Amino acid sequence: MSFESIDVFPVTARVNGAGHLSLGGCDVVDLASQFGTPLYVFDENTLRLTCREFVGEFTVRYPDTKTLYASKAYINPALARLIHEEGLGFDVVSGGELAVVTASGIPGGDVYFHGNNKAPQELEMALDVGVGRIVIDNTYELGLLDQLARARGVSQDVLLRVSPGVDPHTHAHTTTGILDSKFGLAVDTGEAERAVLDAIAAPNLNVVGLHFHLGSPIFELEPYSIAIDAVLTFARRLAPKGLELREFSPGGGFAIGYMRDRLPPAIGAYADVITSTLKQRTADLGIEDPTLVIEPGRSVVGRAGVALYTVGAIKDIPSVRKYVSLDGGMGDNIRPALYDSQYEAAAANRMLEPAAETVTLAGKYCESGDVLVRDVDLPRLSQGDLVAIPAAGAYAPAMASNYNLNPRPAVVLVKDGEARLIRRRETYQDLVLADVLE
Ligand SMILES: *Cc1c(COP(=O)(O)O)cnc(C)c1O
Repeated sequence: MSFESIDVFPVTARVNGAGHLSLGGCDVVDLASQFGTPLYVFDENTLRLTCREFVGEFTVRYPDTKTLYASKAYINPALARLIHEEGLGFDVVSGGELAVVTASGIPGGDVYFHGNNKAPQELEMALDVGVGRIVIDNTYELGLLDQLARARGVSQDVLLRVSPGVDPHTHAHTTTGILDSKFGLAVDTGEAERAVLDAIAAPNLNVVGLHFHLGSPIFELEPYSIAIDAVLTFARRLAPKGLELREFSPGGGFAIGYMRDRLPPAIGAYADVITSTLKQRTADLGIEDPTLVIEPGRSVVGRAGVALYTVGAIKDIPSVRKYVSLDGGMGDNIRPALYDSQYEAAAANRMLEPAAETVTLAGKYCESGDVLVRDVDLPRLSQGDLVAIPAAGAYAPAMASNYNLNPRPAVVLVKDGEARLIRRRETYQDLVLADVLE
């Protein structure tokens, strides 16, 4: 197996003399024996390089760009600090994410708070920590936030999230900017216009600009330019009514390579289309250049993370299918079951051996839908072999559950041959921590 510069594995992935996969200079066979499996391995170099690439590719074209990491893709304190060191702010979608980000030492001002149904307590919490922006999703939230801010005698900086009615051609479950979506204020129905005017009139809200997010992962560039055009045109129409577009956010949604035969555009290509459309359309419409706010999530952590599993039971159904069961599955990565997501897989302790058969990698959960990878060509596996699934950093550990009461996996960060545990494996004790017996 070869590792090209654009690949689905982290940039430090190598095959060592023993034929083992190594990540960040660490042999994954050693990682598995030290930390156990299933294990999520994050490569620090890939993570830092990706952060720098986002900041660099956007600011070189449009200096007034703020990059926020969309925490829901996966966050923990060690990763939060690392990403903040690279100059990114944070987008959070819950009180929980806000709590973890601020407990990691990130100033509230570097945080944007999103969500289509923020609870009153979550909005209070956001006001308490002084988040940089609250991104208002709907008219209920608009009135509620204005009231809460008034009760404290403060004025909160806000963006309004609009739904521009643009389809980014990704999975229906991850499409968010079309008319029939629970997210955002629809431009097409007049709802967005009314909300902008209400927000401008609200005494304790300070409207800083507009936001949209189309969905994810978006492999095409055109939806961004169509939506930017639509939202800027909308902003121009509302300028005489008092809308000042000081900030403008086209959200995130940038794709990553899950499969070698379907690689995404480079980050620079997304930066090109977004910044050129923004510059051209603001000039055409006579809008002053706003601060551009981008919110990559998946594309920051996705490639940096690799999931490691150990092979257990193998069931061969002659001329039907061979199931190779792994010690993890939908409890640590629900994406294949939820979105029909596809992944590559490698025999991590036998990287130099050619593929010998086509197998289906199943998980250990009591669901027939618990399949991680269908029909993948691998060397003939046996018990104790290690399987690596690349591009697993985003929306896998973040969506992990205790289904079947399996403890959630450990997470390590690797760099220069050193592995640092950044989340310990859960124990059976953890499983009853919140339960009350009497
Ligand atoms: C989920 C989300 C993102 C990030 O999406 P990715 O596909 O992970 O880049 C950005 N902005 C908002 C508002 C989101 O909800």
